[in-house]
Amino acid sequence: MSVAFPSAAALQPFTEPPSLSASEVGDLEDWDRSCLWKPFTQMAGYVEGKPLVIEEGRGNWLRDVHGRAFLDGVSSLWVNVHGHCHPTITAAVREQLRTLDHATLLGPTNVAATRLARALVDVAPGDGALSRVFYSDSGSTSVEIALKMAYQFHAQSRVASERCRDVFVALSNAYHGDTLGSVSVGGIDLFHEVYGPLLFEVRRAPAPDPYHLDFGGDVAAHEEQCLVRLREVFEGCEGRLAALIVEPLVQGAAGMIRHTERYLQQAAQLCRDFGGLLIVDEVATGFGRSGHLFASEQAGVVPDLMCLAKGITGGVLPLAATLATEHIYQGFLGRYDEYRTFFHGHSYTGNPLACAAALGSLRVFEEEQVLSRLQPRLQQLSVHMERVSELPHVGDVRRLGVMTGIELVRDRDTGEPFELALQIGHQVAEAAMEHGVLIRPLGNVVVLMPPLSITEAELDLLCGAVHAAIEQVCDQQG
Ligand code: PMP
Repeated sequence: MSVAFPSAAALQPFTEPPSLSASEVGDLEDWDRSCLWKPFTQMAGYVEGKPLVIEEGRGNWLRDVHGRAFLDGVSSLWVNVHGHCHPTITAAVREQLRTLDHATLLGPTNVAATRLARALVDVAPGDGALSRVFYSDSGSTSVEIALKMAYQFHAQSRVASERCRDVFVALSNAYHGDTLGSVSVGGIDLFHEVYGPLLFEVRRAPAPDPYHLDFGGDVAAHEEQCLVRLREVFEGCEGRLAALIVEPLVQGAAGMIRHTERYLQQAAQLCRDFGGLLIVDEVATGFGRSGHLFASEQAGVVPDLMCLAKGITGGVLPLAATLATEHIYQGFLGRYDEYRTFFHGHSYTGNPLACAAALGSLRVFEEEQVLSRLQPRLQQLSVHMERVSELPHVGDVRRLGVMTGIELVRDRDTGEPFELALQIGHQVAEAAMEHGVLIRPLGNVVVLMPPLSITEAELDLLCGAVHAAIEQVCDQQG
């Protein structure tokens, strides 16, 4: 059932040869092995292989020092939104660099950070309800800030007779980042278990997961049961619920696990019924990935706190923002000696270059009508994924917008998984590279997260190459 697809060589945009000499390349490869400690990587195996050293990015493509071009099928870990080196964003950063590189936001403000705050309030769900923007620099810190804000808000608005609201609720298999606070609310044992003794108390409710139905029965009944369990968890908090934190509609790092808009709406309502705040972590889903600017907006849910990062600058510079409602913000106001100040801030909070990039990215969304132009690509992706879902070792294909997970299983009928040690997802990624496509799996789930700017032919290449790679790798497994 092989599929035909365009060749990477025909589509890649690079015209000049790579610029580095053979000895410079050799040095880089040596230094990569001898000096770098790479994220989420078992270095023992890594240093035995040959590193992929990226030198250039253009459009939806990356090119390595040897001149091999790869379609960026996961948007460089889900951050690149409009393709690499987009002229509008590049110009915005250049222009910013002419006037101001950095100035602290502790005390002064700066032009770009202020303009961006205004713009984010305008585009966020709730028509201005999320009226305050607190900057930081990664998804993890945006979550850390939301957790601290929620805790401190409750601590300083509590009347003496009330219990301290100090318990957070999160979903099973959640992923909210790698700092200790965000790891506390995270629930992926492979990443988080080792840090157990260092973490604070979090109660966990089962996340709806239509493919791995924990409660048996049909999908709707399963989701209903998840809501019942969520209510039980809230009840168990006995007035100590601080907040529910949730990745809206898609649990990305868990393997693109989907829940419905209804689940999100009901969970939000339940949380509020129990006096908790709702934190939505839109770090992965935000900025068009879901097919809308924000997934919570799509579900008609307005949170109390919203975490943004990754795509906020179009993938150009590190920046994050935690948005809060006016109600939360007001809870921090008072005389200095009441000590209600939010004592948090980073050296690069509100960095003007990153904020200029984010303003550039928002301009691209508007000027190029990115979300409406994406619609035909989403239909095309859907047709491709229908074909992929027929492959013998594909257990499940799930998708929201461009966020796509293809779960590979040993036995499609029983759902028996491939042993993790086989690294089947990784094998598929390696095979896709042979076709000029760069992807990064999550365990046995092959992930596609193309830039919103992907063209029709590029999407055919991405899906066709992944289809062929799955066939090739899984056929060897019998
Ligand atoms: N939240 C979610 C939902 C994420 O997917 C991620 C990163 N994959 C983070 C938080 C952490 O973001 P960062 O890697 O920028 O710290």
